[in-house]
Amino acid sequence: MKSTPGTRELLLLLLVLLAVAAGAQTRTAVQDSSLRWREAQPERYVNPSRFPWPQDAKMALSLSFDDGWDSQVDYAVPLLDSFAVKATFYVLPERVAEKVEAWRRALAAGHELGNHTARHPCTGNFAWTRYDGVALEDYDLAGIRREMEEANTQLEQLLGVRPTAFAYPCGETYVGRGAQTSSYVPLVAELFHHGRRWASETANAPYYVDRAQIMAMRMDNEPFTRMEGLIQRTKRNEDWLVLAGHGVGDNPGWGTDLQMLRQLLAYATDPANQIWVAPVGEVAAYIEAHRSQAGAR
Ligand SMILES: [Zn+2]
Repeated sequence: MKSTPGTRELLLLLLVLLAVAAGAQTRTAVQDSSLRWREAQPERYVNPSRFPWPQDAKMALSLSFDDGWDSQVDYAVPLLDSFAVKATFYVLPERVAEKVEAWRRALAAGHELGNHTARHPCTGNFAWTRYDGVALEDYDLAGIRREMEEANTQLEQLLGVRPTAFAYPCGETYVGRGAQTSSYVPLVAELFHHGRRWASETANAPYYVDRAQIMAMRMDNEPFTRMEGLIQRTKRNEDWLVLAGHGVGDNPGWGTDLQMLRQLLAYATDPANQIWVAPVGEVAAYIEAHRSQAGAR
């Protein structure tokens, strides 16, 4: 018997409508539940570490700079020195070679030297990495190990210091692509005391942080008010904020504003603000020592 034209189509349409309605209901339920969860549990976001920071501080702050731009030794180092603040500089050997004496003076003043690889490999989605043949997607673990070891050798020749600190270029921690991707975090853990990331979204929880992947938030192109907000948020949790910048000056485009840095240093070194300011490696070592005493929690 021939079915009435359209009946089958109507049934199919009904089924499709039911499926769509069920999907919409599920999505709404998920969104609602996630919102309720946030409102009901503010302690998920504020949970003071009670970590025994030195000098009665309520948090730690590290300032760091990448790539070894000339403006770092020209402007940032004298300003840091005027506040007696030590920072960490993750440098490229070829940039250091252009201003060796200035970099030697910076290290003699107590600033920390870090490795940032020899040729700065980053994702091949940047045109310059493909041009320079340093796309991480085309690296393997042996290649990235060579990058780090070469930089350590060159920096030791130039400055007489072999870095134990490392910052991942572009904050990227992998080599290869797809199913053949490998993390090079284990290599950094083997070769260095610490590894610092970049453009992270959080400060570091002292009882939890992995020193091979220290989170770092950007201070390039940021106003002081934003930095003050990050500091206050970090202080609520008694955590460790690591800030990272590149060039330093008045019109850097890709860098940290000198006036902002001056304001930040004045704020960070005011005892009333209870901030311990020290280089990344010093804070990482302090955490390691006190975490083993207290026992991780
Ligand atoms: Zn870099």
